[in-house]
Amino acid sequence: MTLAELLPSIGCSTEPVLEEGLWPDGTVLSGSDLVIGGVSATRLAARFGTPCQVLDEATVRSRARTFAATLPDGEVVFAGKSLPCPEVYRWMAAEGLSLDVSSAGELALARAAGVPGERIVLHGNVKTSEDLKAALEHGVSRIVVDSFDEIAQLGALARHGQQVMIRVTPGVDAVTHAAIATGVEDQKFGFSLASGAALEAILRVVEQPSLRLVGLHCHIGSQVRHVASYEETVRRMVGLIASCGVRIEQLDLGGGFCAPYLPGESSFDLFGFAQRVRGTLNYECALHRVPVPRLLIEPGRSIVANAGVTLYRVCAVKRGVTRTFVAVDGGMSDNPRPALYGAKYAVRLIGRGGALRPVTVVGRHCEAGDVLADGLLPADVHAGDLLAMPVTGAYHHALASNYNQVCRPPVVAVRDGFARPIMRRETEEDLLRRYV
Ligand SMILES: *Cc1c(COP(=O)(O)O)cnc(C)c1O
Repeated sequence: MTLAELLPSIGCSTEPVLEEGLWPDGTVLSGSDLVIGGVSATRLAARFGTPCQVLDEATVRSRARTFAATLPDGEVVFAGKSLPCPEVYRWMAAEGLSLDVSSAGELALARAAGVPGERIVLHGNVKTSEDLKAALEHGVSRIVVDSFDEIAQLGALARHGQQVMIRVTPGVDAVTHAAIATGVEDQKFGFSLASGAALEAILRVVEQPSLRLVGLHCHIGSQVRHVASYEETVRRMVGLIASCGVRIEQLDLGGGFCAPYLPGESSFDLFGFAQRVRGTLNYECALHRVPVPRLLIEPGRSIVANAGVTLYRVCAVKRGVTRTFVAVDGGMSDNPRPALYGAKYAVRLIGRGGALRPVTVVGRHCEAGDVLADGLLPADVHAGDLLAMPVTGAYHHALASNYNQVCRPPVVAVRDGFARPIMRRETEEDLLRRYV
């Protein structure tokens, strides 16, 4: 018997408490049930089935508003790839945000959401001619060019005055996972600042009569914790603006602001970011005697990650030699991030407390790497239990697959005690429809 079992009042594990900072705003425990956006998780699972991705609308909207308020004279562009869904795009537009897309598919969702072209930015290190044509047709206000081939191709396709930004690789190492560090030298994104390619790209765009250079763009990675990484980026980008001799109206610093995934991890210091980055920008522009460009940022994860919770049903519990495996009805098809990046998640059991034991939550897919989380669950966890995994709002629905022909879960929005699917569960009919 452990101390915690003998003396429940001092055991940190027996009384259910909600990990701070991970769950959607206003999430509470009601008895041993979890209430998200005023809706019981137990009832959500009963009504919509599992796995189920729950999204708290108030949290999404409030974070979007906070970003907009922190950068009142700038432009906040939601990174549409982090949670592709027309309803979410509508919330962003309603809160005053613009939207970035990186394919004709994401653009189709933006059009379905009614987002006007002047509020859309097109990205992508590869844009097919279909992507470019779709963007021109919808009047996408800014296209961020990423290669010399693309400058020539877009120059030939565009009508007069198409606004263009140039993706620059500033060489800043943002200290994150290599798969999501996009600002360092010698990788597939953008034009290198250090090699002179960025300067050359500026001159090439200016030479194209159909294109109008309005800005420079960079995106140094994702899960970036330090404001200093952005300050360094601003210094380098303003250096480039000063040396190119072309008027640059907009400076887009991209996204990448970190979100907490585990207890004890902190949120991004957005207020500090706004103060320090603006200060650095004003200082550097004065130093180099160039006009201060309008600031753009492109948050994705930091707006939606903590608004999402995934509900899973336990299907089996297996005692291994050293570990206990808790197998659930989802897995890498709805969350490939642990397998892709070694991402870590917290997990909790809904419905009862009890002394906690370390377990490994695994998925249903035919891969040993299909592990969702290492966490603590009541020692008597058994088939039929309901689990909740927080921080699943960003890059979950977006990265979901049909591996093992498993149908993708719904996204259910909750707000003020009401729940409604904004993306329905996939069905076997959906799966069969594409086979010929
Ligand atoms: C992915 C991406 C973002 C958003 O990154 P987050 O980490 O979700 O904030 C912004 N801009 C560009 C160009 C991106 O590729």
